[in-house]
Formats: sequence, C-alpha cells, structure tokens
Amino acid sequence: MSTDAGPAVIILPALNAAVKAGLAGRCRLMELEAADIRNLPTGVVEAVRAVVCVGSFDRADMDRLPNLELIASFGVGYDGIDIRHATARGIVVTNTPDVVTEEVADAAIGLLINCVRGFTKAETWLRAGHWEQEKSYPLSTLTLRGRSVGIFGLGRIGKAIARRVEAFGLPVAYHNRRAVDDVSYRYCPSLIELARSVDTLIAVVPGGASTDGVIGAEVFKALGDRGVFINVGRGTTVDEEALIAALGGGTIAAAGLDVFAREPVVSPALLALANVTVLPHIAAATVDTRAAVSQLVVDNVMQWFEERCALSPVV
Ligand code: NDP
Repeated sequence: MSTDAGPAVIILPALNAAVKAGLAGRCRLMELEAADIRNLPTGVVEAVRAVVCVGSFDRADMDRLPNLELIASFGVGYDGIDIRHATARGIVVTNTPDVVTEEVADAAIGLLINCVRGFTKAETWLRAGHWEQEKSYPLSTLTLRGRSVGIFGLGRIGKAIARRVEAFGLPVAYHNRRAVDDVSYRYCPSLIELARSVDTLIAVVPGGASTDGVIGAEVFKALGDRGVFINVGRGTTVDEEALIAALGGGTIAAAGLDVFAREPVVSPALLALANVTVLPHIAAATVDTRAAVSQLVVDNVMQWFEERCALSPVV
C-alpha cells in the first residue's frame, strides 16, 4: 500500500490502523514487512526518510536506507533498535513514554494483588458452582499486608508503581544503576541486595544487554519463601528456567507476569504451575492508552518533518 503525498515513510504492517490513518495523506506511506525492505529497488530506498516500527528495527535494514532520518517506534521499549548505531548515523529514534505510565502501574498493582490473593482462581471456583456445594472458598495463604516492596527500575513507571504501593501503606525500596534524587525511597546499590531486603519484587526495567537474564536463581533465593515476584518490564530480564524452579520448589511463593522471554510463546512448564498468574502483555493495553500511544507516534513523525524536532526522542 502506498499513498503519494509527502515524505516517504515505511510503516511495518504490525502498526495499528490509527497510526496508519494519522499518517495517510500526509506522508507517502509504504506498508512493508522488514523482509521487503531488502528488495526495495534503487530510487525507492533513497527516498525513504522515516520508518515506523514496534520496538525493533534491524541494524542492517537501517543501513539499507541511506537517507533515513527518523525511526519512530510504537511503545516504550526499544531494545530491538541499535540506538548507538542510529545515533552514529544521525538517525533520530523516538518512543512513546509517559502516555502509558499510569496504565502500566495500575496493571502492575492489579497483577500483584491478584497474585497474592488469588482472585482469578476464586472467580473460576465460583463460576464452576463450587460455592453452592462447598459453602466457602479456602483462605488465602498470602496477603499484601505486612509486605515490603522492592522496585527494580525506578523510572517513570517504577515511580508510578511506588506511589501506589505507598498508598497501600507498604515500604518501598529500589535498585537502579544510579540513585534517584527526587525520591525518599531506600536505595539499594545492587539487585541482590534489594531482593534480600524485601519480600516482594516488582521488575520494570527495560530489556537489552545490561538486564538480560539478571533476575535469576540467586535473586529468587534472596527473596525467600514468602517472596512474590512481579514482572511488567521485559521477559528477557528473567532467567525463566530459574523462575520455574523457584516457583516449583517453594524458593519463592508466587509470581505475576505480564511479559515473557519468548512472546507470544509461554513455557508450558511455567503454565503448569498453580502459583503463577500470567497475562498476555496487556499492561498498557486499553483503548484510551493505545489511542494516546498511536497519536504520539503520528505527532513524532509529523513534528519531525514539519519542525525537525521530534516530541519524544529516546536520547
Ligand atoms: P524509564 O526509562 O523511565 O525507566 C527505566 C528504569 O530502569 C530507570 O530508572 C533506569 O535507571 C532503570 N534501569 C535501566 N537499566 C538498568 C540496569 N541495567 N540496572 C538497573 N536499573 C536499570 O522507562 P519506563 O519506566 O517508562 O519503562 C520501563 C520499561 O517498562 C520499558 O523499557 C518497557 O520495557 C517496559 N514496559 C512494559 C509495558 C508492558 O506492557 N508490560 C508497557 C510499557 C513499558 P538507571 O538508568 O539509573 O539504571
């Protein structure tokens, strides 16, 4: 699909209709799979000035487009884009932070409470007719009360989660590579130290080399047998084999996961466990927030072409 007017922009088919509609008529949109970029004829590759993608765009494909100025990514995570290489080539990369922050924080808290109190299981029990037969549902063995919460990744979303945790009356600690100036939460200089000092760990760090598999057996052991682990960041940050072993062997009590190592495939061994709550990467997935993300993608592209100034560049 291609429209004629404006600067040439490649849009990956995975992008939603709102982004396509927002750019249609204002850009010469080329809806292409990454593989098709490799077959673009001379004359067309030189015309492409922007790419709209979802979190990843291959470095080799970047280099096939000599006049690429902008990669506008849909979503917050951009671990599949080589930022250093883009910067070296003078290509601006944008993502869509802030507009998802509160939504993802809400989801993290929902996941935590459901994980601890087992509402999904209780509802399934009621719907199956057990209430009338058995009279009362078993007491929850876990509670939010008395917990202390560690946040791994106290960035925009991490801070929004921390504010909610505070409102629940629970103490908050965190680990980032650098301590944050404008908060009074307890800072831990390492992830393992954070895990040792709390019983509830919420991970909301980006993916990428610096976080790949860092949440592993040692962290789960440190969290302890009352431990609850929540992940709304990236599945790649977790050693899933170690998590499965920790849940299965009682090293930790429960986990709540919105993200997985090999989405959309989820390990059958993980799904076989009763003490894990799983969601299909929906922390930001509401109609309103999706519309705000789509609009920010469109605004980044148009503002770049009209004013040479993107609204939310990555660096
Ligand atoms: P921010 O960039 O605002 O925050 C990221 C935080 O992680 C920073 O505080 C950073 O601190 C910390 N961090 C990064 N790398 C490391 C590291 N190697 N070790 C320790 N801390 C680290 O991002 P957001 O809060 O807006 O988003 C966070 C992530 O959430 C996104 O990258 C995305 O992957 C995920 N996400 C998931 C969604 C979902 O649907 N489940 C939706 C939206 C986002 P410092 O640099 O000091 O280390």
